[in-house]
Amino acid sequence: MNPLARIPAVDRLLSDPRAAAWIAAHGRAVIADCVRQALAEARAMIRAGAPVLEEAALWGKIEEKVVAATSPRLRPVFNLTGTVLHTNLGRAPLPEEAIVALTTAARQPCALEYDLARGMRGDRDDIIEDLLVGITGAEAATVVNNNAAAVFLLLNTLAQRKEVVVSRGELVEIGGSFRIPEIMRRAGAKLVEVGTTNRTHRHDFAAAIGAKTALIMKVHTSNYAIVGFTHAVPERELAELAHEKGIPFVVDLGSGTLVDLEPWGLAHEPTPQESLSAGADLVSFSADKLLGGPQAGLLVGRRELIAKIKKNPLKRALRVGKLTLAALEAVLRLYQNPDRLADRLTTLRLLVRTQGEIEGRARHLLPFVRAALAAWPVTIEVTSLFSQIGSGALPIERLPSAGLAIRPTGKARAPLLRLEKALHALPTPVIGRIEAQTMLWDLRCLEERDEAPFLANLRTLS
Ligand SMILES: *Cc1c(COP(=O)(O)O)cnc(C)c1O
Repeated sequence: MNPLARIPAVDRLLSDPRAAAWIAAHGRAVIADCVRQALAEARAMIRAGAPVLEEAALWGKIEEKVVAATSPRLRPVFNLTGTVLHTNLGRAPLPEEAIVALTTAARQPCALEYDLARGMRGDRDDIIEDLLVGITGAEAATVVNNNAAAVFLLLNTLAQRKEVVVSRGELVEIGGSFRIPEIMRRAGAKLVEVGTTNRTHRHDFAAAIGAKTALIMKVHTSNYAIVGFTHAVPERELAELAHEKGIPFVVDLGSGTLVDLEPWGLAHEPTPQESLSAGADLVSFSADKLLGGPQAGLLVGRRELIAKIKKNPLKRALRVGKLTLAALEAVLRLYQNPDRLADRLTTLRLLVRTQGEIEGRARHLLPFVRAALAAWPVTIEVTSLFSQIGSGALPIERLPSAGLAIRPTGKARAPLLRLEKALHALPTPVIGRIEAQTMLWDLRCLEERDEAPFLANLRTLS
């Protein structure tokens, strides 16, 4: 008998009680697809000369397909890359307060645009405007989908068919898709570059301002640093010049932090408060970088400019949803109590962990990790490392950290690449980094309470 004929039919497998629970949970079409894929593989194995699969093995194959097809695509991972605000891993992990607020808002109706005091339609920005105004000292504030949207909306509202003067040293590209010149063009504004890559002076700006100039703009060079023979015009001077000419001065701060990070031993990162007190009329920054909140873009500054921006029909297209607002409100409230911020705001808590503390955790974890990886041809040692903040905050700042260095026992790199693949296939994938012949696990973002689930996950490594 032809061995291919001994493969069961799709319909027979689908009517088997073993398939019934899957069909109830995920729908017949999805499970039928998994069965077909498993059967196609079984046939290919037979054609390649393998014996016909036992029925139990066939069900095992189907189950693999079902698990792969029905597990969420947006998988939680362990971030051991050493980059705290990793854009590809979702940037800031939210504090507990924000998680509670957003799940509550998700579960039930909420007064998103409803003024309960007056019993009439309200404005969703009201949920966070007072908080932002209180923290930054700005006259007004608004919120959109991300900082790219904030910059776009600002330019489109205030500089459409007009010119915006920017230093050549600040024509930033962020993460490949946000480039100041392109955002300008799409927003309908004409970019006027002044100065040179390394040096720009007040007179460069002054000479470029004419009847068509709408704004002077400063872009924080968040993901690179120009060092050596350099000069940039201080914000205070740019603000003075803009105001002499009767135009606004705006700042794209990028990351921006709402608190001075120096008391925690971190380098200085500019704050919106500083730009505003230097005379900036509008400042834009991300909510999910150093601020430690959900993805959003914040605009703070002069009341009449914020009012104009809010009237732009594109504000409607770029607005945030209730989940974002719920999380953002909760995060901003944490800033009202700066003394406890470093315990409660996850991003800050991770950034202020000391090398000594992290190294202690690495020593504690070492024997358990060695045991979990006992079958692999690797050696594992505690090592000192440097983490980085990520998302373009303090690009040349390195945070002394610690973790584990995993090296193949032989010369070949292949086992490391195989290990990386296996780690990515874990129920909760583990993401480290490979440098030269070493896989590095920076433990800065693995807090003590994550260690037990981390090890349990690691023990399932095959
Ligand atoms: C990160 C950044 C942006 C983009 O912000 P998103 O929140 O990622 O949209 C824009 N400008 C600067 C200077 C940045 O650092």
